[in-house]
Amino acid sequence: MTATVIYGKDLAAELRNEMKEEVTRLKENGITPGLTVILIGEDPASLSYVRGKQKASEKVGMESDLIELPESTSQAELLSLISELNNDDKVNGILVQLPLPDHIEEQEIIEAIEPSKDVDGFHPVSVGRLMTGQDTFFPCTPYGIMVMLEKAKIDVAGKHVVVIGRSNLVGKPVGQLLLNENATVTYCHSKTRELVYHTKQADIVIVAAGKAGLITDEHIKEEAVVIDVGVNRVDGKLTGDVDFDSVKQKASYITPVPKGVGPMTITMLLYNTIKAAKKTHGLI
Ligand code: NAP
Repeated sequence: MTATVIYGKDLAAELRNEMKEEVTRLKENGITPGLTVILIGEDPASLSYVRGKQKASEKVGMESDLIELPESTSQAELLSLISELNNDDKVNGILVQLPLPDHIEEQEIIEAIEPSKDVDGFHPVSVGRLMTGQDTFFPCTPYGIMVMLEKAKIDVAGKHVVVIGRSNLVGKPVGQLLLNENATVTYCHSKTRELVYHTKQADIVIVAAGKAGLITDEHIKEEAVVIDVGVNRVDGKLTGDVDFDSVKQKASYITPVPKGVGPMTITMLLYNTIKAAKKTHGLI
């Protein structure tokens, strides 16, 4: 069997067009969703991510602000900026680009963001709401994966999903979102014994380990759905965690890297910011 490839890039374009129309309607009613992104330091990868986020928000018509601060920015300065943004009505979403320099205590920064503006979904209030099955801002990459599965009409209820990776950013929240949708979820990580034993049983495998070529056709059963979250650079080329060519011959659905999960992440950030604006104005 040859898998159907789920192109997140195409889905993202479709969703962003819909969002553009929604932002136009909101603006007609005097509401302009606003996202502020804070970048500390000059890491080229982070800079490219935040520029991408800024460009995408401008394209759908949102207000987008990028605050670039030097590597030497102190914890107190960053906290004071976040407090200012928390009190700024024009700012609906605040995103602090991670990772932060070593001298900054990341968790304190995440917790300083007002939960109603936590469009990254990392604040403990957002995480707790997700855990307890309440509506909240879902972290963007896991949320993007859920939307991809839904749009491909892959029903997760009752399915056995194996998630490889247990980070707060991807693995844990995507497993929780799947559990909330009645999937049976197994988490694997670097200490898991016999990864292949688990993945072979999965109807759906979500791979978020950051290890190129970790999953091959040997790891999956016939007609499994394989979602590749990994982003690795091998010999200057972007590649996922899945050996795409071999797995494609066995899976029923597969996501590529690039053009797979990646473009959905920014799309869900835009979605969360629009949602924040609508919530603030009592529209939802
Ligand atoms: P992370 O914080 O480094 O977590 C990686 C997870 O994978 C950890 O839980 C680790 O286990 C597990 N792991 C590592 N090697 C493994 C192995 N050989 N077998 C089984 N599990 C293994 O990374 P992350 O932030 O979750 O990101 C994961 C990948 O997704 C990265 O490549 C990242 O670049 C990519 N990513 C992509 C997007 C996107 O938009 N496309 C967004 C976010 C992240 P331990 O917990 O035991 O260490």
